[in-house]
Amino acid sequence: MATGGDGIYIVHSDGSRTLDGCSGAAVSCLGHSHQKVIDAIVHQAQQLSFAHTSVFTSQPAEDLASLLVESSDGAFSNVMFLSSGSEAVESAIKLVRQYHICNGEPERVNFISRKYGYHGNTIGALSAGYNPPRRQPFEPLLSDAFHHVSPCFFTRDGREDETEAQYVDRLVQEYEEMFQRLGPKTVAAVMLETISGATLGAVPPAVGYLARLRALCNKHGALLLFDEVMCGMGRAGTLHAWQSLGGVAPDLQTIGKGLGGGYQPISAILVAARVHTKIAAAQAQHPFVSGHTYQGHAIGCAAALATQRAIIDDKLLKRVVDMGDLLEDEVRRQVPHLKEVRGLGLFKAAEFAPVASRGHIAPDVVKACLTNGLAVYLCSPATDAVLFAPPFIITPEQIKELVRIFAMSVKQVLERKVD
Ligand SMILES: *Cc1c(COP(=O)(O)O)cnc(C)c1O
Repeated sequence: MATGGDGIYIVHSDGSRTLDGCSGAAVSCLGHSHQKVIDAIVHQAQQLSFAHTSVFTSQPAEDLASLLVESSDGAFSNVMFLSSGSEAVESAIKLVRQYHICNGEPERVNFISRKYGYHGNTIGALSAGYNPPRRQPFEPLLSDAFHHVSPCFFTRDGREDETEAQYVDRLVQEYEEMFQRLGPKTVAAVMLETISGATLGAVPPAVGYLARLRALCNKHGALLLFDEVMCGMGRAGTLHAWQSLGGVAPDLQTIGKGLGGGYQPISAILVAARVHTKIAAAQAQHPFVSGHTYQGHAIGCAAALATQRAIIDDKLLKRVVDMGDLLEDEVRRQVPHLKEVRGLGLFKAAEFAPVASRGHIAPDVVKACLTNGLAVYLCSPATDAVLFAPPFIITPEQIKELVRIFAMSVKQVLERKVD
């Protein structure tokens, strides 16, 4: 039973504590007791909690939208706030469709996404994603408008005789073939996690991959949609993950998780000016008939605004990079039996080398960590990896404590002959 929060720790009913090494699922970027965010929530609740967005906007929603637009290097002009990552993905898919209707191309109905992508659990988001165990029970309900190509995972899928550039060529060729198979004029968007998150474990794209996808979408008139629900909002060391990856911006982007840091359920879609302009200009003829009761919720926006301001005021993005480097060094130095340590900022994964006669050991490692007072995130099912995504406020001493418990837990699991 979780009854309290104290910085990076979750406090249990008996007073014992768990070090939150993954912010839940890369959510609690400011830890669990940030006073400024709590104050902002209380203040907004005293002013006004809810006013329906069909009629009203609110100051926190306007200020938060401005902050997000201004931090996007000109990539986005408009923002829509929702309550969960899945909701943001659903509405982003609909906005893509809306754009093509308004642009006189209603025949664009296909989406190209990736195997082992994760985009959420509602029917549309689950259709876009591709994690077989999550999809399996619901397969008959999923949309056939989504088509899946290979993920970008050079260190695993690159061939021995292949350079990184040749690997990217091969992946782009696979996209091109998918465009041709579907008919290039039927493709609405390419969508992907900028850095693969929950399923593969913090896999950054190969060098040049995002730029090639941008060019491919431009060539065929499709939109590019980045899902940064997990890797965005500072997790990778820049507010938007693509800002750390060569600066290739999408047309639409979903964010969630770290946006409100877990203090309130809030997510958003960021939209490029050219997409918004087209949709807004055709509003009379083609209104965007989609909405959710709690979109733009004032307390959610107030909490997210306070969260994002704290990240700026306390210069936490620099800290994310520094602590991420330390975390990576410590893991490499202390943890046995690793195949790879990867990721950006405080979004890092440790993948295990195969253990003779045993399947994946990550599930046992995650359990052992919990017993030893540390929460880390289990990536599944395509890799034998554990994800680290601690709160941005973590100190060097706490990083060392995290890695000490992790290394001890891995050793305990390896020493057990059978689990
Ligand atoms: C978590 C996640 C989602 C879904 O967000 P929910 O808030 O759980 O609905 C979507 N996309 C990515 C990349 C995620 O990591």
